[in-house]
Parts: sequence; C-alpha cells; structure tokens
Amino acid sequence: MNFAGLACTAGLAVGVSIAAPPIEGQSEGIETDPVKLSALPHSEHLTFGCVIDEPKPEIEPGVGPRGAFIANVVAMIDNGEPSNRVDLVFVGDGYLAEELETYEAHCQTGLNELFATPPFSNYQNFFNAHRVEVISNESGVDHDPAQGTFRDTALNMGYWCNGIERLLCVSTFFAFQYANNAPDIDQVFAVANSSKYGGAGYPSSDLGTYAGGNGLAPGIAIHELGHAMGDLADEYTYGGPTTYTGGEPSAVNSSIFDAASMSSSQFKWHDWLGEPDEGGSTSTFEGCNYSVLGIYRPSNNSMMRNLGRPFNNVSTEQLIIEIYKLVDPIDSASPPGLYNSGNTIELQTVNPVGHDLSIQWFSDGLPISGANGNIFAPGSFPLGSGQHAISVTVVDETPLVLDETARNLYMSQSLDGWTVTSLIGDINSDCVVDTADLGGLVGAFGGPGPFGDLNGDNVVDTADLGQLIASFGQSCD
Ligand SMILES: [Zn+2]
Repeated sequence: MNFAGLACTAGLAVGVSIAAPPIEGQSEGIETDPVKLSALPHSEHLTFGCVIDEPKPEIEPGVGPRGAFIANVVAMIDNGEPSNRVDLVFVGDGYLAEELETYEAHCQTGLNELFATPPFSNYQNFFNAHRVEVISNESGVDHDPAQGTFRDTALNMGYWCNGIERLLCVSTFFAFQYANNAPDIDQVFAVANSSKYGGAGYPSSDLGTYAGGNGLAPGIAIHELGHAMGDLADEYTYGGPTTYTGGEPSAVNSSIFDAASMSSSQFKWHDWLGEPDEGGSTSTFEGCNYSVLGIYRPSNNSMMRNLGRPFNNVSTEQLIIEIYKLVDPIDSASPPGLYNSGNTIELQTVNPVGHDLSIQWFSDGLPISGANGNIFAPGSFPLGSGQHAISVTVVDETPLVLDETARNLYMSQSLDGWTVTSLIGDINSDCVVDTADLGGLVGAFGGPGPFGDLNGDNVVDTADLGQLIASFGQSCD
C-alpha cells in the first residue's frame, strides 16, 4: 500500500511508504474491499516511519529502550568486509531470553529461503548477515491473535497497522536503534515472535517485517526485500480503485504503458518484452499496484504478486543492480607499484554462484590475450621487453541484466597502477635471461608456445631464439 498521502507531514524530507504483503491464499483476480485510506487511524508506527532519516541516537551497548536489552550480536554469514557487502541485520521483537533459540530459527529460516531464491541465490556471496538478539519484556507482539491485545516489546511491533490485519508494523526508530549494534546495515528485517500471517515493507527505510513463526514468513520477508531493496511495486490488483488513475509509477516493474507504446518509446522494460519469464514471457499484463485496470505488470504471476513465485525478469534485473550498487566486484588487489616478470599481480573478486566474472588484463591499454584469471603472471605473456602499464577490468556479464548502462556503472570495475618491467627472453620468469632460458627455449623449439614464443606468433622458432640471445645476461635489477 502506498500511504504517502496520509503519513507524513509537510517538511519531512522522506515520504513514508509502507507496503503490505499479498493476502494469504489470495488468488489472482479476486477482489477484497478496497482500503479507505481516508478512514485509517493515526498510527505511531507511521510517525516513526517518517522520522527514520533523522540521526540515529547513540545507545549504550547492551541497553535499549523500553527496558529491553541486547544479549548478543551474532554473525550468521560473514562473507567479507562490511564496506563491500550487502549487510542484512535481523532484529527480533517479542522474544524473551529463553526464546532466543526460537528467534535464531526464525532468522535462519528466513535467510535460508532468501538464499534459495534467485537472484539472491546467485549473489549470496555478496551478503553478510547478523542477528541482534533483542530481548523483550513480554513474549509476542500487539494484536495477536486479535485486535486489542497489547504487549510490552522492544520494537513495538503489531498487526492491524492502518486497519489492515496482515500489515505488521514496527517502530523503525527502535528497529534501527538495535540494528545499529551490527557492524554495518544495508537492509533490516524486523522479525516478530508470532505465527500469525503478516509482514510489511518500508522501502524508504530499507526495512521489512515478517512473522517469524508463520510458514509463509520467509516468503513475506523476500517479497518485502523486493520492496525495500529494489523499490519494486506490488503486482497484485486488490486494495485500490478498480481503475488506476495516477501517473507513471517510479517502480521499474509497473507502468501505465502497454507493450506497444513501451516498445515504440524504448521505455521501462522494453528490452525484456518477449523474453522467457516465469513460465511465460515478459509482456504487459494488465493489473498492478492494487488496481485491475489501467496499469501493467511485466509477468503474469511473480513474487511481487504472490508469495512462493519467482521474481520476474524486470524485478530480478533491478535487484542485481541494487546489489552491485553496494558491492564492487573487486574486494582487494595487489598494491600498485613496480613489478617484474617474475612477480604475480592478484585480484580477490566477489564471485557469483553459477557463473564467473569476466576478467581482462591489459598492457599499455591493450588487452592481453589469454590473461583472464584472478592471478596475472606477467612472465607467462609476451609483453615485449621494457616497462608496461598493467590494468584490469572485471565485469559481471550475467544475462539476467540487459541494462548495459547499469552494467557499466555498477557491475564492472577497473583497476590500474601496476608497472611491470618485462625481460624478453626470461621464459622461466626468474628475472634473469640465462642458460636456463636458452635450454627452455630449445626444449620448446618447433612447438606452438606460449612457453618460449617470445614474439607471440604462436611458434617457437629462430626469431624467438634471436630475441633471447639479444637480451642474454639482462636481469630485472
Ligand atoms: Zn508488497
């Protein structure tokens, strides 16, 4: 649901937008009563949602608001430096100290499901995950099982937010206050100790909620991550006016334009039209953003429409781009400086599951044929004698992304600054041209190289021998 119109007072920089999960068991095409936005009650949850961009308050380690406290911050997955990972932080609400094992299970179930769902499964090495063990004064959350049940809990989570039973709201202020105890925060999951179906997405706060004990909870969390991380629209058709009358949505997976006009104007998901997509193909299916008519979604029945479904092409592409906005393909590399043909230059990359990043090393700006690995050994390539400026480009060429502008901006990375002094004829890369090299070349004589093929013409012959003799006795020093 988009409550931007009612939630925030003028002057606040960030409009609040809370997205509800799909209705449990709701099949497509069945309408429920539209929500009357004007009749919604005031909600402290929305107030907190509005102020989330204020400076986060300092809190004493181990002590939180409302008498709750933190037992521990537990690393669930540590794949690398937080500065180059998507850092997921789980915070729990309504868990007593003796329920921390339940909390662990609720978090782990969500994370396992996330990493079984493309594209997160393909990019799980790009994520870290921590759970903050928040201990509440009472077990459970507000309005569970019925409206009017109140509990004293750390994050003040509750159902019936804005009059919608399944809308599980949280104090985002408190959620971030606790999440701050983790090494870094990119996305927060607020997990309620409840088995009642519910969840919510706070796209502008990069936060999602879900009921930790509900069988559909992991699906809710992933759906909400689609909102929070990809700023994706809901693709279901209930909850709003029958005919959509607003302007073009900002979300990439929702448009007022049909396939013909999208194609002719090269707009939104025109690149994907006709591509195979979750059982059918990408097109413009009427019905999206809580309305049946006048607005289109890219596929028939994706994750943003029904839980348990895959993300469609358009949403998948957007989520990968968002991951790469937070993670560079190169984690670290050999320091810039002077190298010789006996050294190696190494890259540590963040590797997708199921496909390799494309790596190309360059000498003086020209691609070096066959230099495509994480380790570059200059002595293995015929660079020619003298000093060479070495650089490298790493790019993720996954076909799940068609947006070449985004690929160039976010999904590729180049490094330079290495200078290699190459000794022609040093075929064993020991930094001196001597009888060992001569013996090596003679042994490879007549073959195709590359060992011994000093001039790179794919045959070891007298021309190579002549080059070696010309540089005989030279060393890297
Ligand atoms: Zn949603």
